[in-house]
This record gives sequence, C-alpha cells and structure tokens, in this order.
Amino acid sequence: MALAPNVYDAEPIPAAARLEIERLLASGDLFRYTNEGSPVALLEQEFAELMGSRFALAVSSCSAALFLSLKALDLPRGARVLIPAFTFAAVPSAVVHADCTPVLVEVGVNYRVDMTDFIAKIDDDIACVLISHMRGHTSDMDAIMAACDARGIPVVEDAAHSLGTLWNDKKIGTIGKVGCFSFQSYKMINAGEGGIMVTDDPEIAARAIIMSGAYEHNWKKHAGMQNSFHHWQNKLPLYNMRLQNLSAAIIRPQVPELAARVEKGRTNHDYVADLLNASPWLDVPPPLGPELRAPDSIQFNLVGFESDDEARAFQDAAKTRGVAVQIFGLSADNARAFWNWQFLGEAAELPQTRAMLMRACDVRLPVRLTVAELDFIAEALIGAAAEAKTEPRAYGT
Ligand SMILES: *Cc1c(COP(=O)(O)O)cnc(C)c1O
Repeated sequence: MALAPNVYDAEPIPAAARLEIERLLASGDLFRYTNEGSPVALLEQEFAELMGSRFALAVSSCSAALFLSLKALDLPRGARVLIPAFTFAAVPSAVVHADCTPVLVEVGVNYRVDMTDFIAKIDDDIACVLISHMRGHTSDMDAIMAACDARGIPVVEDAAHSLGTLWNDKKIGTIGKVGCFSFQSYKMINAGEGGIMVTDDPEIAARAIIMSGAYEHNWKKHAGMQNSFHHWQNKLPLYNMRLQNLSAAIIRPQVPELAARVEKGRTNHDYVADLLNASPWLDVPPPLGPELRAPDSIQFNLVGFESDDEARAFQDAAKTRGVAVQIFGLSADNARAFWNWQFLGEAAELPQTRAMLMRACDVRLPVRLTVAELDFIAEALIGAAAEAKTEPRAYGT
C-alpha cells in the first residue's frame, strides 16, 4: 500500500534566500532601519507592486497587521467591529487588542459571510467591517462593499490565507481600505512568522508605519509620503511590530514563485474536489462566480451525518487510512470555533455557523503534492465516509 503523504512539511526555501541570509549574518545588518534599501524595505516595494497598491508595510504577523489597521483607522475605544463568526481566533483577538468590540456575523455552509445576517447586523453603530477570508474563501465582496460604502464604513480585509485569490479579476486584499496578509508557515509564502498590510490611503499608511515602530525619523526610510508623517510624528504610540531583515530575506525569493504555487494549489484542490463530490456523503461547496481561488487546503461538508458520533467515526476512519481531518467544531478547544473564544465573554447565538462547524472538514493540501498523493487522500476520505455511514459504531457503550 502507498504511504500516506506528509501534508505538514512546507516547500523548501529557495536557495537565493541562503545567500542573502549569509550576507546579512556576515554584516550583522538585521534591523530594517539601519540602512536604506534594507531587505524589508525592498520587500515592501515588491509586494506593493505585486498587489498594485500604493503602500505596503511589513510587520511581525498578520495579527499585528490587523491590529495596526484598526488603530490606523482611529476607531474610538469600544467601537463595534463586524467580523465573520468563522475565522481564526487571531481575528477577534486583534479586535480586542485594538480596544474594539467584535460583533460576530453568521457564516453559511459555503464558509462565506451570510449576507442576510450581515445586512441585519450592519447598523450605524458598526464602526468597521473586518472581513476574514477564512481558508481563502471569499465572501460576496460586491454586496459587502456596497453595504459598507453606503454607510461610509471602512472595510479591512483579513487576506492571511488569500494571497493570489482574485475577485472579478481584482486581487483580494485590495478591495477594502486595508488588506492584511500572513507569512506564517501554513500560508502560501512561508517565513515562519511575518505579515504585511497594503493600502492606497497615505494617512492610514503613515499612521500604521509610525505605530509599527518607525520611531524618531525612521519614517523617512519609507518612500513617498513625508507630509503625513510630519503631522503624526510623536502623536501616536509605538507598538514595535516591525519585521526583521532575515524574515524579508526568506520571503523575497518566494514572491516570484507565488503565481506557480497558486496555479498548482488551485489545480490540486479542484482535482480533489471533483473526486470528493462524487461521494454521496461529501460536499465541497463551489466558489462564488467572481472568485478565482488560491487554496492550499480543502474544506468539505459531511452530508447526511446526523450525529456527532457518525462524524467522529469518519474522522477516525480517515485517520486509520493515514489522512488527518479536522472537523472544526468537534476537536476540543479548536481556535476556529467561536464558542471557544471565551475571552469575548458569553458566546453569541450563531446557530447556522455552529451547525456548519460541526460538519465542516479541513484537510491540508500543500501545493507540492503529486497526483498519486492527491488520489491517496481522496480515496481515504471517500472510503472513510462510506465506512462511517455503513458501519455505524456505538460510542460510549
Ligand atoms: C493565519 C491566519 C491569521 C493569523 O496570521 P498570523 O500571521 O499568524 O498572525 C489570521 N487570519 C486568518 C484567516 C489566518 O488564516
């Protein structure tokens, strides 16, 4: 029998990174502001160009980018920020960190913001909308932007997992006022840790740059926006969320590989999706019409699994076959299940999102997998579902 593919290892870091790291180690030049034209500054220029944005600011994580975006919008303390109820705990955490209050909106069985609940919850009391494109699934950005523009509400995009995704041919992360990306290891570009934010708004950029830790006149090492900085100098706290040069050295040579990774990731995903959708027990929701995805994992729903025990039996059977499946709502303390965000206080009533999370499965599909490995994963999942449905096991007896 073929061995189960390893879905946890990342891509090797391009050789060019090693040369640059050696050079940085030899000179000790690790701080982004020691010299002009540092690797971090070059990364920002290259990333802004890639996204077609005026400004990019590299920071220590996507969480830091989300926090700085909210701070840069100058939201009053306690401002209500609408976020999807299906996201990673880092998102409500960034809202709390920025002294704001998250308001959770329902997410449908297709993992996207439920527009009926969104419209019901977006009132004049909402100061900002933070759309988390969870696992790279794009919500209806046309409807979201129309509703927010009508009320003058700024939109921040959490595009941590959406680098390379298009919506009506526009890059995800460039539709709202600010877009935030992650370079943590399980994203398209891997630096272990790191993040970047893009915006076309010079005031937001200036404020975020200063708050990220451009103390004294280090803002002068960011090109093109001196006037705004003069205004904000010494008026804002310095949160020190800078990226260091070694991280930029690891990220920069991966940027030219992005297009190929996105293409391969989408091909792999769609190949497995077609196989899974042939099973009566599994359903991979299709993308929305304007959406061209850039996935490095696959999500699907269990169909006709009435009990949690049946769903657990599927998870166990897949594991026996060598494939680890996460059912978001069924693993203890899962950081993507909103009822575990106890730091928010009492969990909100979100029956639709809760029901989705109890049957929504998550499997990593790193872009380097071969067709044989994809077949292995699909066969394991299909076989596990059939086994769980035809050989029900009694739990707890
Ligand atoms: C990974 C991730 C984050 C957090 O990114 P960090 O860089 O680890 O802070 C936020 N939102 C989503 C949707 C993510 O996938």
